[in-house]
Amino acid sequence: MVHPTLFELSKPGCRAVRWPACDVPQQAVEQLLPENLRAEAPPPLPELAEPDIVRHYVNLSAANMCVDSHFYPLGSCTMKYSPKRNDRLAQWPEFATAHPYQSEESVQGILAILYSLQKMLAEIAGLEAVSLQPAAGAQGELTALLMASAYFRSRGEKRRLVLVPDVAHGTNPASAKMAGFEIVQIASSPEGLIDLTALSQRLDSAVAVFMVTNPNTLGLFEKEIGKACEMVHGVGGLVYLDGANMNAICGIAQPGRFGVDMMHFNVHKTFSTPHGSGGPGAGPVAVTAALEPFLPVPVVRETDGRYWLDYDRPQSIGKIRSFFGNVGVLVRTYCYLRTLGSEGLRQVAERAVLNANYLMARIRHILPVPYNRRCMHEFVATAAKLKAERNIAAMDIAKRLLDYGFHAPTVYFPLVVREALMIEPTETESKETLDRFAEALEKILQEPPELLHQSPQSRPITRPDEVRANREPVVVWKGE
Ligand SMILES: *Cc1c(COP(=O)(O)O)cnc(C)c1O
Repeated sequence: MVHPTLFELSKPGCRAVRWPACDVPQQAVEQLLPENLRAEAPPPLPELAEPDIVRHYVNLSAANMCVDSHFYPLGSCTMKYSPKRNDRLAQWPEFATAHPYQSEESVQGILAILYSLQKMLAEIAGLEAVSLQPAAGAQGELTALLMASAYFRSRGEKRRLVLVPDVAHGTNPASAKMAGFEIVQIASSPEGLIDLTALSQRLDSAVAVFMVTNPNTLGLFEKEIGKACEMVHGVGGLVYLDGANMNAICGIAQPGRFGVDMMHFNVHKTFSTPHGSGGPGAGPVAVTAALEPFLPVPVVRETDGRYWLDYDRPQSIGKIRSFFGNVGVLVRTYCYLRTLGSEGLRQVAERAVLNANYLMARIRHILPVPYNRRCMHEFVATAAKLKAERNIAAMDIAKRLLDYGFHAPTVYFPLVVREALMIEPTETESKETLDRFAEALEKILQEPPELLHQSPQSRPITRPDEVRANREPVVVWKGE
C-alpha cells in the first residue's frame, strides 16, 4: 500500500489544536509588522485531527523494515545492536540541553566523559591519542590523512601516494583524494587478503599511507597484517586502519599492536548509536604519539582534576567539525563501554564472530562463499552460479527475503565477488533467528525464478529504479 501524504489526507476545517482568539489588537499588529511582510492568506498547511496525524506517522514508520521489527543482516554497514538504554541516558536533560557555548566550568561532567572516552578508545586502539571530533568514519579518514600530510610536511618529506586494496570501501580512495593524495590500488591475493608481493611492488619513498580494513570487507582477518605494516614502515610510510569492522576484534586485538599508526572508529557501527537515515554519528580517530601534535583542536585535557579544552596546539590541522564533535553520540559510546567493560566488549566481538560463522556454515551449501575460511563478524556469499544456471540474481534473493520478514543483506559489495550477498548477523541474534533466516533462504531457492523476479510482493514499494532514486530524489510533494 502506498501511503497518501498529509496534504492528500487534509480536510478543510479539521484541527488537532484550537488556539484561543488572538488578543493582540489589530492596530498593534499593523504597527509592528510592515505591510509588505504580512501574508495575504494563511499558509497552505494540511488540516487534520490528532488521531489522523498520529496514525499517518505510525503507519509510515511501520512501512520500513528496521532492527526493532526484523532481523537486519546488513553487512559492511554493520548494524550492530544498539541497546536502548544508551539512547535513554543520552537524552538526560543534563546532556541534551547543554550548549557548546557554555563555560568549561559549567560542563565539567561532560568534559570528564569526553576525556575518559578518549582514554578508553585509545586503549581499545592500542594507540596514544584520540580526537573525538570527526562526525563519521569517512571524516575520520580525511582527518587522519590530513594529519599524515601535516606530519610529512613537518619532516620536509614529499609523499604523494596512498595505497588502497581493491576490496576497500569507497570512502577510502575518496578521502585520500580529498586530502590531496594520489591513489594506487593494490590487487588482493586469491585468498582475498593483502597480497604482500603486490604491496611490495608499490612501496617506495613516495608512499605516504597504506589504508587497510581489518577484518577486511570480505569479513576475513588479515593474517599478514603485521608483516604488511612492517613493510610500509620500512619505506617510511604510515599505516591507516579503517576501523569500520572493529566489531569482530574489539577487546581482542589492539590495532596499534599489529602496527597501525592511525585509525578511526565508526561509533555508529560499533558502539551503540543507531546507524542510518543520515542521522548523527561519530568517527573518532586514534593515533600514535608521533602523530599526536597534529590532532584537530580542541583536545579535552585534564589538569589537577579540572577538565579543559586545549586549543593551543601549533601543529594541529585545525578544526574538522564545529565545536567538539557529536557529543550526544559520544555519550552513548561512553555509556556502552562503561556498561560492558573490557570483558563484555570481548564477548560482544566473540559472539558476533560465532554468529557469523554459524550462519555461514548453515547456508554455504546453497549460497557458496568464495573466500571460504573462518570468517569474522560477516561473510560474503555469491549467487553467481544461481544466476548462470537459473537466472536468480543476488538482488532477487534480497528482494524475496523481504516477503519472508527479513531485511536484505548488503548486495553487490565488495566488488571483487560477483553477485555478492554480504551477510552480518549481530552478536545479539539468537540461534532460532539465524535458523529461521537460513530456512527462508532454502525455501526461496526452491521457488520458481519468475516469482523471485517479481518480488517483493508484500511491500509498498517493490523494485524502484535505484540509480534514479538516488540521482533524482523526490523529496517535496508538489500536488497532483
Ligand atoms: C561504513 C564504512 C566506512 C564509512 O564510514 P561512515 O561512518 O559511513 O562515513 C568506511 N569503511 C568501511 C569499511 C565501512 O564499512
